[in-house]
Amino acid sequence: MLNVKDLRAGYGQVEALRSVDMEVKKGEIVCLIGNNGAGKTTTLMSISGIVKQRSGTILFNGENIIGLPPHKIVAKGISQVPEGRRIFPTLTVEENLRTGAFLKPKLPKEKYEAVYDLFPRLKERRRQLGGSMSGGEQQMLAIGRAIINDPLLLMLDEPSLGLAPQIIDSIFDAIVTLRNGGLTVLLIEQNANLALEISDRAYVMELGRVALSGHSQELTNNNSIQEIYLGRK
Ligand code: ATP
Repeated sequence: MLNVKDLRAGYGQVEALRSVDMEVKKGEIVCLIGNNGAGKTTTLMSISGIVKQRSGTILFNGENIIGLPPHKIVAKGISQVPEGRRIFPTLTVEENLRTGAFLKPKLPKEKYEAVYDLFPRLKERRRQLGGSMSGGEQQMLAIGRAIINDPLLLMLDEPSLGLAPQIIDSIFDAIVTLRNGGLTVLLIEQNANLALEISDRAYVMELGRVALSGHSQELTNNNSIQEIYLGRK
C-alpha cells in the first residue's frame, strides 16, 4: 500500500531524514520506534505532505504522491493523528469530528455513529467543547476525526503520550479494532514494548535512517533491541 524509497527531508540546514526506506502492506500495523530526534515525526509529516520532501519516492497504491499538497494526500486516503492531538478546543466534539471530513459537503449520520461505536465516551460528550475533555478523550477525538473520512491508511504519532495505562489500553484496543475492520496503520510509539506488542512489523530509526526492521516478534527477541529500547538485559 505504502512504499517509501530513499526519502530525504529536513528543515533548513537540518537533514532530518537522510534516506528512509520502508513499506506498509494492506492490513498491517507497522510501527516506527527510535530515540528522540531519530526522524519518526518527520517521516510521517513527509508522507502526509506537511513537511516538504527533498527527494525520493513515496508510492501510495502505486502512485507517487511526492509533491502533492496535504489536502490531496488526504483525499487519496491517508489520514494523520498528530502528536499532541491538536483538536480544536473551542469546537464541540461533534464539530471537531466534522472537521475531519472537510472534503465532503455533507456527512451522513452513520459516520458519526461509527466513531461513537468505537469510542462511546465521545457520544456522551458530543456537545462538550474539545478543550474541556481529558487527555485520553482528546486522543479518542483526534482518532475519531482522522477516521471519519474513511481513510485507507491511518498514521498516528505517539497516541499514548501522557496518558494513564488504562486509557492507553483502550486507545490501543481501538487501533486493533480498526485494523481488524480493514484499516492499515502506521504508528509512532515511544513505548517500544507496547509498539511491538500490537504491531506486525517495526522499523527502528536512528539519525534519519532505518537502522533495523523486521517482524515485531523477532525484534522483541532481539538482544540489542531489548537493551536499547525495551530496557531489559
Ligand atoms: P521525537 O520523538 O522527539 O518527536 P522524532 O524521531 O519524531 O523525535 P523528528 O521530530 O522527526 O524526530 O526530528 C528529526 C530531526 O529534525 C531532529 O534533529 C529535530 O531536531 C529536527 N527537527 C524537527 N522539527 C524541526 C523543525 N520544525 N525545525 C528544525 N528542525 C527540526
